[in-house]
Amino acid sequence: MANGLSTLSRRFNHQDGSFAGVVIATVGAEYFSKFYRQFDAGANGAIELESVDGFVMARSPDDGTYAGRDISNRPLFRDPNLQSPGGVYYFRSPSDGSQRLSFYKRSDRFPLIVLATMDRDEVLAPWRKAAITRMSLVVVLIGLIATVGLLLVRQILSRQGLMSTLAAKEADFRLLAEESSDMVTRIGFDGRLIYVSPSSAHVVGWSPDQLTGTPALAGVNADDLPAVDQIVAALRRGDITEARVVYRTRHRDMQEVWIESTMRVTRRSDTSEIDGVVAISRDVTQQKNAEQRLGVLAILDGLTGLANRGRFDERLQEEWTRALREGTPLSLLMIDVDYFKKFNDQYGHPAGDACLRSIAKPLRAEACRPADLAARYGGEEFALLLPNTEAAGCRLVGERIRQELRRLDIPHAMNPPSKRVTVSLGGATIWPNAELRTETPSLVSAADRALYEAKDGGRDRLIMANEEWQPAMKISVNGAK
Ligand code: GH3
Ligand code: MG
Ligand code: MG
Repeated sequence: MANGLSTLSRRFNHQDGSFAGVVIATVGAEYFSKFYRQFDAGANGAIELESVDGFVMARSPDDGTYAGRDISNRPLFRDPNLQSPGGVYYFRSPSDGSQRLSFYKRSDRFPLIVLATMDRDEVLAPWRKAAITRMSLVVVLIGLIATVGLLLVRQILSRQGLMSTLAAKEADFRLLAEESSDMVTRIGFDGRLIYVSPSSAHVVGWSPDQLTGTPALAGVNADDLPAVDQIVAALRRGDITEARVVYRTRHRDMQEVWIESTMRVTRRSDTSEIDGVVAISRDVTQQKNAEQRLGVLAILDGLTGLANRGRFDERLQEEWTRALREGTPLSLLMIDVDYFKKFNDQYGHPAGDACLRSIAKPLRAEACRPADLAARYGGEEFALLLPNTEAAGCRLVGERIRQELRRLDIPHAMNPPSKRVTVSLGGATIWPNAELRTETPSLVSAADRALYEAKDGGRDRLIMANEEWQPAMKISVNGAK
């Protein structure tokens, strides 16, 4: 072995199996050592040529001590699983405890085994490197996918949240709009109805299907249309954001209904631009009629149905101003029932009321022109305002009233000599004059004075204001200016 040669011996037999001799072969360990050096077995690896009976023939690397070493106790020679012609096995190195990987190949022709041993970590190093690279790539990819997925999920969740909020809002709106007795409508920027709630059927008589798409103000009364139109236009321009308007509109069954609408602009959620108007409308016909009735009641006398004193004062002022502006005459008749206290005493207060109601009829009939006004001035005293009427006309009307009342033929035993209900009348006509600035009460006073003259003169007569009362030269006296 010192000369670097390994001896290899093998018995060979005759054909019958009997001993025929021993073949001895000498292997040059140095040669194989050199030969194996050209193969890279790694820093901790080795390539060995071994005899099948467990001796090292040659090794690379070799420090000169390996050739001839007995290695028959190694698994390769003892382990029955490793007796195949070639294979791989793992073992832990007894020198440094690291995992090793051995590849062996038994020669077919010679009693030799070639064994290449490598450090497992070294063998696996390139695979590990590639695996780590691949793993890192996969981890990065998974991270990317997870991030994108997370973003998507968040977006989906927020969209779902938005959708459910919208759905809830929509449900609230539908509930409010569709259960409300008020009619809810949405008017688009083109002035047409985009949405109409079911209550339209009883508010205006048409179903939502019939109204949707039609012009919102189509049925509005022509007199109210300009005002409503103006408000809707101001809302659409953004001049105002909310408005309340009362107007008349056509109802399918009835002639017309009064509607009160509260309108509010709607804006696009993305750009905040005005995109229409929402109107909540209700039928206020009953209130409107009640208002009108109340309005009428406020100006009427409850007993006779004529205008009351308040209304008379108002109209007197208006007609006075008009007469002054237009330079027309204004006449007034004050009418007082004769001995009415005695009538009450004789026939009772209810009969007195009935009498006053009867007297009111011809007075109302005589106030035949639109501007004429018959009023109960107070108690049993009446007034008849006759705009644009000269003294002659005033006298004519007064006389007619006196005659009419006599024709009523209401018994009044305490009113001699006719013993019928009679009235005394005082008339006055004035031409309001800007320079003289005569006050309205002067007309009443003049008529009143004339009335007392009639009383003094024996009652049941008409006296026109005389020349003693002359705030202006145009005051008429018994019909003469
Ligand atoms: P003269 O001819 O001077 O006018 O006498 P007169 O009795 O009519 O006048 P007086 O002013 O003394 O009396 C008016 C009466 O009118 C007194 C009042 O009882 C009665 N009277 C006033 N208002 C009403 C009313 O609403 N109903 C009834 N029944 N009587 C009324
Ligand atoms: Mg009287
Ligand atoms: Mg009186």
